[in-house]
Amino acid sequence: MPSRTLPNIIITGTPGTGKTTHCEVLAERCPELRHLSVNQVVKDKECHEGWDDEYQSWVVDEDKLLDNIEEHCKTGGCIIDWHACDLFPKSWIDLVVVLRVDSAAHYDRLSSRNYPEVKLQENIDSEIMEVLLQEARDSYEEEIIVELTSNSTEELEENVERIQAWLKQWKEDNKSE
Ligand code: ADP
Repeated sequence: MPSRTLPNIIITGTPGTGKTTHCEVLAERCPELRHLSVNQVVKDKECHEGWDDEYQSWVVDEDKLLDNIEEHCKTGGCIIDWHACDLFPKSWIDLVVVLRVDSAAHYDRLSSRNYPEVKLQENIDSEIMEVLLQEARDSYEEEIIVELTSNSTEELEENVERIQAWLKQWKEDNKSE
């Protein structure tokens, strides 16, 4: 049983599946949760080994990143927003949400971001090949992984409600006597 009084949730998925949108809505509706944007931490705390020009992204220094978020994760109540999930210690994590999106919607979302062609194609392929879902299954127990589709605002709403219901249950199950 974790000693934290609030759970830590990873919202993961290929870029463009809706991680940040889900985290923002959840954090707004659940003031006890904090949106932990790994992207932001990497930038603000310089947890990187430089800039990758081809992919137009930072090369993350995972050890430094984990050092920077460890205290928050020990306290609990973090919604971790990142397109990878295998780096976080299992003992920190209570729920892993893997967001999924259909190719057509995914393509539209990534195109509007002006991604370099190589990055756009790699992300579309990665989503089709279920790379993040597999990474989650390789890293965490099946019981804590949930795969949710994020094609529409209706699904976004349903997903957020489902996570809120899960949070309520977790708090109930982990109440101190
Ligand atoms: P990620 O953090 O996974 O890269 P974002 O949350 O930034 O994805 O979402 C990418 C784009 O897709 C944004 O323009 C966002 O408004 C839109 N979007 C995200 N989730 C949904 C959804 N469930 N339905 C419709 N549009 C969505």
